Amino acid sequence: MKLTPHISLVGSGRMGFGISHELDCHVYLLDGGGELALLDAGCGIEPERIVANIETDGHDPSTITKLLLTHAHADHSGGSRFWHDTFGVEVHCSSKSAGFLKHGNEEGISLDVARKAGMYPEGFPFQACSVAGGLKEGDTLTIGNLIISVMETPGHADDAVCYRFSLDDKECLASGDLIFFGGKIALLSTHDCCIPDYSASIRRLAGQKIDALLPGHLVIPLSGAQTHIEKAALKFRLLGVPEGIA
Ligand SMILES: [Zn+2]
Repeated sequence: MKLTPHISLVGSGRMGFGISHELDCHVYLLDGGGELALLDAGCGIEPERIVANIETDGHDPSTITKLLLTHAHADHSGGSRFWHDTFGVEVHCSSKSAGFLKHGNEEGISLDVARKAGMYPEGFPFQACSVAGGLKEGDTLTIGNLIISVMETPGHADDAVCYRFSLDDKECLASGDLIFFGGKIALLSTHDCCIPDYSASIRRLAGQKIDALLPGHLVIPLSGAQTHIEKAALKFRLLGVPEGIA
């Protein structure tokens, strides 16, 4: 599903558009010109539905070279092993995410408690996956002609990063589960979620002039996205907590 000439939504579950497995986060395909990258992997169940969506949008999945993860929660990173093993993509993520992925660390990504809470089926596996390297604040990645900047943004998860880039005349922010339409956020009572970190990360995004917000779930605002960020930033600045998505 094309969002802009060079950005497609190729995976999205029940907290989105229902075009792939119900547990999938939004999975985006970025066309950098001569090179393709996936933004987040989906949960790893029925990934062939995402492959079919990529083909429907006119792309050859075998030309995807990189997978960029916003964080290692299973709905975002669970499919990493599939993309790596099937298409040989390099997996890029924060150093903390890399540690979890390399060892299939379920406690590290709070999958143990999420499974107990019924958010994932019994026996849902977190498959270890080799990673190209750990990203840190200020790093850049190139996808064809596209240059992507890394921002460390802990809060929803302490391994989280956002990706910023300019594409199709839009300043874009891939925000994972940090910030959503309407300035909503995703607090969890898990060990890897931290309100003061959340506040600092959102307040860093104030005044950034973001046009298109590519979040991990729900509505995808393709223009005027900074207003959603400012709403959350103001709430945190006043020592409150923005409204949650659920
Ligand atoms: Zn998450």
